[in-house]
Amino acid sequence: MEIVKKISQMQNISRNHAKNGKTIAVVPTMGYLHKGHISLIEKARELADIVITTLFVNPTQFGPGEDYEDYPRDLERDQQLADEAGSDYLFYPQTQEMYPKYFSTEVRIKGITEVFEGAFRPGHFNGVALIVSKLFNATIPDIAIFGQKDFQQTLVIHRLVEDLNIPVKIVIAPTIRESNGLAMSSRNTRLSDEEREIAGKIFLALEDGRYAIEKGERRRKMINTIMHKTLRLSQQIRIDYASSALADTLEEPDEFLPGDRVALLIAVFIGKTRLIDNMLVSVPYSLSQKSFIEGL
Ligand code: AMP
Repeated sequence: MEIVKKISQMQNISRNHAKNGKTIAVVPTMGYLHKGHISLIEKARELADIVITTLFVNPTQFGPGEDYEDYPRDLERDQQLADEAGSDYLFYPQTQEMYPKYFSTEVRIKGITEVFEGAFRPGHFNGVALIVSKLFNATIPDIAIFGQKDFQQTLVIHRLVEDLNIPVKIVIAPTIRESNGLAMSSRNTRLSDEEREIAGKIFLALEDGRYAIEKGERRRKMINTIMHKTLRLSQQIRIDYASSALADTLEEPDEFLPGDRVALLIAVFIGKTRLIDNMLVSVPYSLSQKSFIEGL
């Protein structure tokens, strides 16, 4: 695997591969790779001839007082893991390369960036949209792989490529979890053993929400209450949100309808570590409605 630090060099490499008829997949990451990232690289390996993993801790997606400075970093380890997973290139630009002195451009997406994660982290998704646009322009991919772990981010990226006519196919890969259900995250390394165990409650809360919907609960607030109850079993969990919303738009109707795809979305602090997770659930048709539709 080759490490590339300059945008112009990355663009030349990608253009040359494209000229030779090769397809390119990119996997954007902030590094400190874990099995979730590895699964994305492996997916990219399946889908394209050339795999580029990007490693950049993007300052514009961190708010004041967030963990930009302390974000875990380990280039050597990431290099080895990305290589073993089948990445051909590691695009590893310095901050100056991505944000030189007179940098002035913003990418602002309205609506979907302002709720849930966006409400608690104002400006976060605009920073994401900006860096993803820049990474796409640097790597010129045919395909980009993102994790469902950051569900709202996947909606933002879909909006970005659609609105700006960016010719990149977006592929979403499933969330990889620890044995207790905790979604893998670079930030999990900050959890003590006890906190890691407590963090398993996040998955339990999502499962409880899912179970309620599958058993016929459609009232949004009731579904939210069920998730809150499970999270509150531990006093060490501080809830930012535990909510349900329509998966395509993040709208919050009073009641979900049969056939709706619902996103269960959770963000909590455990100690100083902020963790997010989600699950998608389809609202079942009641027996009578189902047989009615099948009979059409
Ligand atoms: P990050 O380095 O946290 O910015 O994540 C880079 C990419 O990996 C994003 O598309 C994430 O959604 C994805 N990702 C992070 N954690 C997981 C996980 N546990 N399973 C699958 N994908 C993940």
